[in-house]
Amino acid sequence: MNVPCWSLVPENLVQEYALFPLEVHEGKIIIACSRPLSPEALASLHFCLGCSIEQRLLSSETTTSETTKDFLEKNCSLKTSMQLEVMMENSSSPFCFMSNEDPLEKKQEQEDPIVLHLKMLLDEAIEENASDIHLESSAKDCRLRYRIDGFLVEKKSIPLPLAGPLLSRLKLLAHLDITECRLSQDGRLTHSWKNYTVDFRLSSLPTQFGESLVLRLLDRRKMIRSLGSLELSAQLERSLGYLLKKPHGLLLVTGPIGAGKTTTLYACLQELQEYKLKIITAEDPVEYEIEGMLQVPIEESIGRTFERMIRSFLRHDPDVIMIGETRDEETARRAMEASLTGHLVLTTLHTSDAPEAISRLMNMGLDPFLITTTLEGVLAQRLVRKICSCCSRAYSCDEYSKEEITFFHDDPLPKQLYTGSGCKRCHGTGYYGRVAMMELLLPSDQLRLLIHQRASSHQLREQAHREGMISLQAEAKRYVIEGITTVAEIRRVL
Ligand SMILES: [Zn+2]
Repeated sequence: MNVPCWSLVPENLVQEYALFPLEVHEGKIIIACSRPLSPEALASLHFCLGCSIEQRLLSSETTTSETTKDFLEKNCSLKTSMQLEVMMENSSSPFCFMSNEDPLEKKQEQEDPIVLHLKMLLDEAIEENASDIHLESSAKDCRLRYRIDGFLVEKKSIPLPLAGPLLSRLKLLAHLDITECRLSQDGRLTHSWKNYTVDFRLSSLPTQFGESLVLRLLDRRKMIRSLGSLELSAQLERSLGYLLKKPHGLLLVTGPIGAGKTTTLYACLQELQEYKLKIITAEDPVEYEIEGMLQVPIEESIGRTFERMIRSFLRHDPDVIMIGETRDEETARRAMEASLTGHLVLTTLHTSDAPEAISRLMNMGLDPFLITTTLEGVLAQRLVRKICSCCSRAYSCDEYSKEEITFFHDDPLPKQLYTGSGCKRCHGTGYYGRVAMMELLLPSDQLRLLIHQRASSHQLREQAHREGMISLQAEAKRYVIEGITTVAEIRRVL
């Protein structure tokens, strides 16, 4: 395969090793260089570009245009040779046409197969609602996968001659050190899609076959949502709205990683913005900038911890404080003390359900009295995949699996259930998009009393049920009966 290769090799590599890429031929990049490359330089290039390098030496005499022409005729295809000649008309050195100002480079960039391929790849990921793009180098090609609704979807892999330059270009766009392929790096890049600018966070990882990259899509349209767009039940939306109107207190959002806790917190903060409040957040890292809020990125290495930030926040006279994550007792204590002194504090905790969050706080060593005087609500949540509306179908109870029958154990079996048969839109999975499933615990006097008595999470759960808390399990049943999702999906997340 012959691939035109104008900017296959990133400019920093060109400058660092004083080389010029001629063409890609049979999986190898052929380069011209003015002096032989050392074995280390060759190894580094091989690693960065993901394919073998063949060097053709450009001797000192070949700097005159006549002999350079001879060299090119001997060493590269007619098309490449002609392109090089055009570029060299204004140039005395074979390397100086790589400068940024060259108008030819601009044109060439638009037509560059790598640039086009990358644009197609990023566009497709955005259109398919991917949350991450995975590029994994292997011995034979570069595997490409998108994470959609929490699951990896396999895409056509990228051939090696294209993969190396593609990964290098991504690193270049993310302002990473392109010559550093042996350590992991992190960066950010933006991509224009239709009328939007989509941000990506890029991480590189050196692996046995070369670099692997993961791009996280930071799509504001999906993350920055209002409470109204989260598809909450009317009762839940009302209770949550009521909680957010409180002048002080602690609201905990719990759930495992990937349960959509941050989206919920952002939606709450958006709602609070409406009341013209001063909002300060501590996040690790700040992924979405929200206008009108002060957002502080956590940097533990320099001592900018959650706990320390809460203390600093209090001197800034905020109304609302959001702590990205409560990981330890000190942070939890500071958050509670802040809520005692007249602030509304929102934070997240890693527990499976709402009653367990209270037990976790007690197990951290926090005084039950401090918990009951500050805690206003605990919201537990999960993200479930929705049945694809394009291929959804109903089936009757004689088709139910054993798992589905046991799911409804004491309750009457619904007449019909729904599933997705799989179509092009949902990549054959039968699911498309996700929705949050939530339970909200509001501490009543009776529950506070139980907390004082250091009751177990089981006792707290029983009491909350008696008081009418709609549990995650009850919500799950409703979601299945209404055809929003399947029993299999519920089993996966609960
Ligand atoms: Zn479908």
